Amino acid sequence: MEIQGGVAVTPGITVGKAFILDREQPIIKQQFIRQDKKSIENEKQRYLKAQEKAIKELKKIEKQTADTKDISIIFCGHRLILEESQQEILHKIEHHFFKAEYAVHHLMQTYQDHLSSREGELYSRRLSDLKDIENRLLKHLTCSKNYSYKLLRKPIVIIAKELTPSQTALLPLNKIVGIITNTGGQTSHTAIVARTRGINAIVGLGEGTNSIFADDTVILDGFTGNVIIRPTQKTLAKYKKLQQKQKKSVASLQKIKAFDTETKDKESIHLLANIENPSEVETALAQGAKGVGLYRTEFIYVNHSHPNEETHYNAYTQALRKLANRTLIIRTLDLGADKDFGLFRTIEDNPFLGCRSIRLCFKYEHVFRVQLRAILRASVHGNLSIMFPMISSVEDLRKAFDVLQSVKNDLRKENIDFAQNIPVGIMIEIPSAALTCDLFVSDVDFFCIGTNDLVQYTLAVDRCNENVASYYKFAHPAVLRLVNHVIQTGNKHSVKVSICGEISKEMILAFIGMGLKEFSLSPYSILEVKKMICGMTLQQAQRIAKRVLQYTNHEDTVKYLCKKVKGIEKNQVLL
Ligand code: PEP
Ligand code: MG
Repeated sequence: MEIQGGVAVTPGITVGKAFILDREQPIIKQQFIRQDKKSIENEKQRYLKAQEKAIKELKKIEKQTADTKDISIIFCGHRLILEESQQEILHKIEHHFFKAEYAVHHLMQTYQDHLSSREGELYSRRLSDLKDIENRLLKHLTCSKNYSYKLLRKPIVIIAKELTPSQTALLPLNKIVGIITNTGGQTSHTAIVARTRGINAIVGLGEGTNSIFADDTVILDGFTGNVIIRPTQKTLAKYKKLQQKQKKSVASLQKIKAFDTETKDKESIHLLANIENPSEVETALAQGAKGVGLYRTEFIYVNHSHPNEETHYNAYTQALRKLANRTLIIRTLDLGADKDFGLFRTIEDNPFLGCRSIRLCFKYEHVFRVQLRAILRASVHGNLSIMFPMISSVEDLRKAFDVLQSVKNDLRKENIDFAQNIPVGIMIEIPSAALTCDLFVSDVDFFCIGTNDLVQYTLAVDRCNENVASYYKFAHPAVLRLVNHVIQTGNKHSVKVSICGEISKEMILAFIGMGLKEFSLSPYSILEVKKMICGMTLQQAQRIAKRVLQYTNHEDTVKYLCKKVKGIEKNQVLL
């Protein structure tokens, strides 16, 4: 058994079999299999399958290089070594109970040791040939890249160096129960998509993923961020029990779905959902969302490399129809940085500080106009609002309004209908916008605070970089003061304020105390948050917020808030 620590994305326990999607050079450790017939046979078969694939691959290369005999002969040599080493590797599995990876590595290492004691160019070339052969075989043993998810029968946990947000958005939910990656932070878009789709994920495990082999049993502890690899029977039993307990408490939350979301002293709080795709509206409503507070429309690019006006229009009308007359806040394209989707490939050193989001929309105005036309046309089918992301100045907002106005004029000329008085808001996710939010109050209908980026830009911490994950302090006094300032300014000028960043219920408690009444959350967090709200009073939250604003650091704030939430939940009599 081995334990590796990463960054937890979704609270919950998941147990599954590892499926290695990709990895850098695997580090092979001394590992043994059970000494029974079945385990030996399974391991032998696993090795033989990998060997077959490696040989097939080499034959293909031999064919492709047939014209250049000098090259093709090298790969023919690799293939012969692979074939000839078969008996020895099988022997190591059968008689020494080596795990296949270790058996391969052990034998190749013996060959390499033998060669490295000799000098000369010929020997060093052979040495690199042996490394190449070993890597090819290990790749097929440890990686499952060429597998089709369709062929998978058991629920699996994906192990990958990196998973993009679009790969995550396309994972089949009936086959994948978890994700473990080397890279990523708690609010990276891969993490957000996993959370929205209800997939347990632990990101930023770094080299820790190298300890996981294909088919290993892994436990994802989404509360601590620990990954337990090849657990003992006792540990497995303990976690299975915890998993059952958690499932029960999730099921019991359904009972409060019909309740109004209000504090004990009758203050109504609106809980909406964040979605990436119209198909997620059903889940959001099933989890008790009162609407969609953030529709990340850029995810349309996952399935369409060049979505046209109709593609956009169909997606928005589909979401509106499912929502009946409930709110749908459509955020205009927030492409770029970790949501590049291979489209506009502007290679930049600092993509999060580069041509991202609204800036990209200004650069490629035709793309922006197509989307705005579709939103306006869809507006007659329900209750939609438009939200511009990454606004950093009054000029940004003016530019966005100019394009919107010009698109409206086009539609009028073409006699195409759209709703009048569509509410327009902005995301407050850059410190400059937060500090100067009073300059926007006369032009917008609402502010939506994007804490994921606000934390990143306030604290100069890349939200996707696991190396600085400990600097990503969402309860840092600077962040809290900015959020509080936006809430107070909005409330003073009757501009609605909400938060749509990935925040915990502890932070929600503090923000309610600061005067916030609306939150847009990952669908699977809604009921848990609702439970807390129904067990607290506004007065209590106000007292807590006052205290929170006096703390000088993130750690003390989080500790204090966790204690307060625990207290509220302990006295809960709802369930
Ligand atoms: C945010 O920045 O808080 C936000 C909600 O937007 P995104 O996570 O898509 O950047
Ligand atoms: Mg953002």
